[in-house]
Amino acid sequence: MSTKDIFLTKEEEAEVVEAIQMAEKNTSGEIRVHIEKETSIAPMERAVEVFHLLQMEHTKERNGVLIYVATQSKQFAICGDQGIHEKVTNSFWDATKEVMLSHFKNGNNKQALVDGILKAGEQLKNYFPFQEDDTDELSNELSKGEL
Ligand code: CA
Ligand code: CA
Repeated sequence: MSTKDIFLTKEEEAEVVEAIQMAEKNTSGEIRVHIEKETSIAPMERAVEVFHLLQMEHTKERNGVLIYVATQSKQFAICGDQGIHEKVTNSFWDATKEVMLSHFKNGNNKQALVDGILKAGEQLKNYFPFQEDDTDELSNELSKGEL
């Protein structure tokens, strides 16, 4: 495997985790990233599946957000829990998706994730502000499927 085939280096992975930590300082929403090689179904459908596999519905306010990426399929999707759906429309994630898409197009995977995470955090802040008694309800570590 050449360096080019690696979606994120170890250092870049650490930066993505840091971005999640930063984003979660603004909001009670919980952001996770799942990366796998490919998906045979629509990325959004797969994102919903992974969301449940990771038990991301286990947040008090039902405000978990999964950023799902299928690296070889060159697909990604953002899936929010029902607490978010109750407050916003489907276009809520458009700005986040746009930011990510432009970086992915330029081959900058790390920046796509970092900026997507920070943007998602900013948007979540309006509906789910950070609470004094915040706990880290969902791990900030990257989730990885078959790569
Ligand atoms: Ca939290
Ligand atoms: Ca978290």
